[in-house]
Amino acid sequence: MRILLTNDDGIHAPGLDVLERIARTFSDDIWIVAPAEEQSGAGHSLTLSRPVRLRQFDERRFAVSGTPTDAVMMALREVMPAAPDLILSGVNRGANLGDDVTYSGTVSAAVEGALAGIRSIALSQVYEKEGMGDNVPFAAAEEWGARVIQPLLGLPFAPRTLVNVNFPARAPADVQGIRVVRQGFHDYARGSVVEGTDPRGYRYFWFGLHGIEHTPGHQTDLEAIQDGFVSITPLQLDLTHDASLAQLAQRFS
Ligand code: MN
Repeated sequence: MRILLTNDDGIHAPGLDVLERIARTFSDDIWIVAPAEEQSGAGHSLTLSRPVRLRQFDERRFAVSGTPTDAVMMALREVMPAAPDLILSGVNRGANLGDDVTYSGTVSAAVEGALAGIRSIALSQVYEKEGMGDNVPFAAAEEWGARVIQPLLGLPFAPRTLVNVNFPARAPADVQGIRVVRQGFHDYARGSVVEGTDPRGYRYFWFGLHGIEHTPGHQTDLEAIQDGFVSITPLQLDLTHDASLAQLAQRFS
C-alpha cells in the first residue's frame, strides 16, 4: 500500500512525525509531500499568482513552497510515480471540528485527495491550553491513530467524500472510545482579535482562536471531543443544500 502524507503545519511539524510513525505500522511505501512553512488556516487555497518550488530531502520526502492543496497536487502530478492508495493529512496541531473544517488546510489536503478519487483521511489533535508552541501533546493521536485508520482501509468510500478524525485533549488511557458523528457548528462569536503596534508604529491585528465558547449539538464532532471520545466524521464535497433546491427552482421558474 502506497501512502502519501501531508500536513498544514509544515514539513518539520511534530504532528507529521507522529503521522509517519502511525503510517509505518501499515506500510513502508510512505511518501511525504508537505508545505515548507506552516499553512494553518489556508483552507483549500491553490497558489496561482506565483511559482511553486519543490525541495527534495530524500527519495520520498519533499517540501513545497505553497499550500497543503499545492502539496497534494504536486505529489499526484509531479512527485509520485503512481497514485497513492491512501492520503493521510495531519496530525494537525489543534482541532478541526464543526464549521472550522473549511478554514482547515489539514482537511483541505484530504479534500484535494478525495476530488482526485483517492481514499483520504484528515487527522487532528485537539489541545487545551494555548501558548504551548510545539509542545502540544500528541499522545492520544499516537496511541489511537492506527486503531482509527485500520478499519477505514477496507471500507469503500463514496465518491468525493473524505473522513475527518479528531483526537481529544486527553491522555491515551483517558480517551473514552471512538464515536462516528456528524459535523457540528460553533456559535459564531469566534476567537479574539489581538491588536498591537509594530516597531515602526503601525497598528496590526492578529486573529486568535482561544476562548471560543459553544454549546455543541447532540451527536456532533464537537460533543464527542468534549466527552473525551475520538470523533470520526464523513464529509462530502457536494455542498448543495438539497432541501432548498425545489424552493429556489420554483422562485426562478
Ligand atoms: Mn495546522
